[in-house]
Amino acid sequence: MSKVRCLTVFLLILVMAGMSLPVSAQGTAGGDNDNKNLITTNPFLLLFSWWNVEYERKLASNSTLGIAASYTSFEDDSDDPFGEKSTYLSGYLIYRFYPSGKAPAGFYFGGRLGMTSVEIEYFEDDTSEKGTAYGFGLDVGYTWLLGAQENFAISVGVGATRLFGGDLEDVISNVQMERLAAPAGPTGGKIVRPSNNQAPTKVAFVQCAGSRDVNHLNYCSGVCCLASLKHAQYVKEQLPDAEVTMYYIDRRTPGRNEDFLLKTTAISGVNLVKGKVGRVEQSNGSLKLHVEDVEKERIIEAEADLVVLATGMVPNAAGDDLAIFTRKDDDGFVLDDLEAAVTVAGVARRPEDVAASVRDATGAAARALVAAGRRA
Ligand SMILES: Cc1cc2nc3c(=O)[nH]c(=O)nc-3n(C[C@H](O)[C@H](O)[C@H](O)COP(=O)(O)OP(=O)(O)OC[C@H]3O[C@@H](n4cnc5c(N)ncnc54)[C@H](O)[C@@H]3O)c2cc1C
Ligand code: SF4
Repeated sequence: MSKVRCLTVFLLILVMAGMSLPVSAQGTAGGDNDNKNLITTNPFLLLFSWWNVEYERKLASNSTLGIAASYTSFEDDSDDPFGEKSTYLSGYLIYRFYPSGKAPAGFYFGGRLGMTSVEIEYFEDDTSEKGTAYGFGLDVGYTWLLGAQENFAISVGVGATRLFGGDLEDVISNVQMERLAAPAGPTGGKIVRPSNNQAPTKVAFVQCAGSRDVNHLNYCSGVCCLASLKHAQYVKEQLPDAEVTMYYIDRRTPGRNEDFLLKTTAISGVNLVKGKVGRVEQSNGSLKLHVEDVEKERIIEAEADLVVLATGMVPNAAGDDLAIFTRKDDDGFVLDDLEAAVTVAGVARRPEDVAASVRDATGAAARALVAAGRRA
């Protein structure tokens, strides 16, 4: 972290402490906090260039109303051709309730309502896109007013904000699709667009979303071709008029699964297009896909109102140091360690379907029995 940034943050805190002086002068002497206004910032976020400020004004003895604004930006290495720069700007209206009746001091809880706008700039082709999401959140915390004039405030608190109406709300993952189509899922099994709960008319499946890509997951996630074909069937069973397009680079449907592929593609309204989807963006209430048509070597544009990303499988334990799973491959999948009597089964070992996981588990149990027999 640069010295200049640390110094800037320090000066800003001093300025803000100074700014509260005339405000507290409105209150009566002796530390009474009538008419107290607070201007606060989170210095820890400032150290990471997350600029943030809150203005809170006393409404009544037990409540305050305020506004909060923040700005931050994250940027990949400029020599990364697929890198991007993301900029976030947000503004929120805050209401806080202080049960002690000494607002703005003491314990509080409250809510916030506002919006966050995001801009992403792509280094690859020097383009950018913008989106805005509405949000509401809840906060709890405690504020101490310090000093003879109570003109310095320290506050600790936690909060969470949920964003709604994001421009890309109708872009979901295959796991979300699985839940949407499940009778015990959030919509009782009805496949709808999350943005408006309406049935989609054009559904696009984006294969290898993150997998088989040196910048993300090097490996094939094994089951997503079949999972998307299964989802395409779910869509057509519920919405026979819907148009379904699957954008793929390779189709991994070995053995008898090839029959499943042929059966699905024979359904009228199901199309497979060999193409790599580079970007999805909002366009007049619908979604626009930028697709690299691999065979014709050109970029095409396509429309959809629900996009399902066949996201890759990542092992849960990839970044963790689990006590027994000491041996992992380069991607974080767990390896057998027969010396330590550890034998692995299922997707902890590699991406695979249920049948292969069950076979693995049977093999693992057999190996465990052999090892136990040797030790007896
Ligand atoms: C979208 C999608 C659709 C699919 N559809 C199909 C399909 O139609 N047919 C098919 O055959 N396969 C399908 N699969 C693949 C299938 O889900 C897997 O093959 C199967 O779930 C693997 O079983 P498993 O027991 O190895 O792992 P999981 O089912 O993932 O079970 C592992 C369990 O371990 C728990 N766990 C993880 N880490 C820890 C920890 N540190 N401590 C304690 N618990 C932990 C997890 O919460 C989880 O409950 C699909 C996969 C996806 C992503
Ligand atoms: S299973 Fe299909 S969609 Fe999934 S990573 Fe492999 S090729 Fe791509």
